[in-house]
Amino acid sequence: MEPIILVVEDSQMYGKLLERTITNHLGFRTVWLQSYLETEEYLQDGGRVTLALLDYTLPDALDGEIIDLCADLKVPTVVITSNLSDDLQEFLWSKRILDYVIKEGAHAINYILDVIERFVKNPQVGVLVVDDSKVARKHMTALLEPYHFQLFQAENGEEALEILHANRQIKLVLTDYAMPVCDGFELTRRIRQIWPIEKLAVIGLSAKGSHQLAVKFIKFGANDFLNKPFLSEMLMCRINQNLTLVEHFESLRELSHLDHLTNVSNRRYLFEAGDIIFENARRTGDYPVVAMMDLDHFKVINDKYGHVAGDKVLATIAGMLKMNMRKSDILSRYGGEEFCLICRNMDSDQVKTVFDKWRQMIADTVFDAEGVPYSVTVSIGLCVSKKDSFLAMIEEADRNLYKAKQAGRNRISLGGPE
Ligand code: GH3
Ligand code: MG
Ligand code: MG
Repeated sequence: MEPIILVVEDSQMYGKLLERTITNHLGFRTVWLQSYLETEEYLQDGGRVTLALLDYTLPDALDGEIIDLCADLKVPTVVITSNLSDDLQEFLWSKRILDYVIKEGAHAINYILDVIERFVKNPQVGVLVVDDSKVARKHMTALLEPYHFQLFQAENGEEALEILHANRQIKLVLTDYAMPVCDGFELTRRIRQIWPIEKLAVIGLSAKGSHQLAVKFIKFGANDFLNKPFLSEMLMCRINQNLTLVEHFESLRELSHLDHLTNVSNRRYLFEAGDIIFENARRTGDYPVVAMMDLDHFKVINDKYGHVAGDKVLATIAGMLKMNMRKSDILSRYGGEEFCLICRNMDSDQVKTVFDKWRQMIADTVFDAEGVPYSVTVSIGLCVSKKDSFLAMIEEADRNLYKAKQAGRNRISLGGPE
């Protein structure tokens, strides 16, 4: 469901700014209300809210009463305030709000955008709490619950590892130090043998807090450490920072796998993924279909209409293929005007039909060079038989591509007499 952000703010300027920034930067629907009464009415009428941004002081609720209103209706809340005393800070956290923001400058707006983005992602993010004490686990999960993470619990390191193996969506582990079976150090050490620091964050916790303990946790591979008891606000700051870091690494990794022009995966990714798929196929017997596609006489397109037009053709064709293939298929730009496609679970009697349909779809697409229409065709070589390696499948597809070219282009070849 599309997220809806409720903004309750009586200042025209700030309300409008929030509404516009959230819509423009995050693309989420925003409902902007200006008083306690309006908000009460909206919520009682069943108005859906994913997250509410609440101004602490409203003309008809001067002292944060709006926070209780939202808390009673279980609306996740971020409070916006112009000044913050220690008392107010403590009061706000006691209300189990998600966070608060001090209304000051552009930084505040960026911070709000980050908080919203984080919160909307949380339901896809797993957090594992590891502690031998049931009370401690309960306390921790109660602190985390308002953030809508997928929460997991384990009472020792052994159990934690099992849960991690079965739930790849877990991005953060909060682990106690002292546990009877496989303590926090041992768990961290074993986690790092499998998951690098940029894929899974570990925060160590301990009541027997000492500097040595903190240093040891970090040396064993933890990202961070907290002494118990801690301020819940501190815990949330560390959690958010570490999750954001893991996500940044993830998007960097994705970028390094993408071809910039066409937005499909690059050759490096193709071979990484292809080898894994091939290894799986060896075990299950379900071999993929591998296709090499090469645009016909593409040099002529460049010469006639220019390189920029050629680029546009490449991006358009990649986009069309992507739209038509399955999510589990992998399309990659193999080089210049050549694409490679790996399709899993494709019925062998469908291969010809499917690829011929795609070939036709490309041939039927009309491009435009300053009013002059033109089209492009593609030749496709396929490998549909079992081979010894992924590379061998590519080589077979490439041989068949050559056959398709030889036979006159704009056609597919499976290697046999077509
Ligand atoms: P064939 O039908 O035999 O494949 O002929 P072709 O002209 O497509 O093959 P050739 O390999 O001779 O030329 C490929 C052309 O693709 C030459 C090159 O300029 C063009 N090309 C490769 N990469 C890009 C790119 O990123 N952008 C554009 N616009 N053109 C590219
Ligand atoms: Mg070509
Ligand atoms: Mg080529």
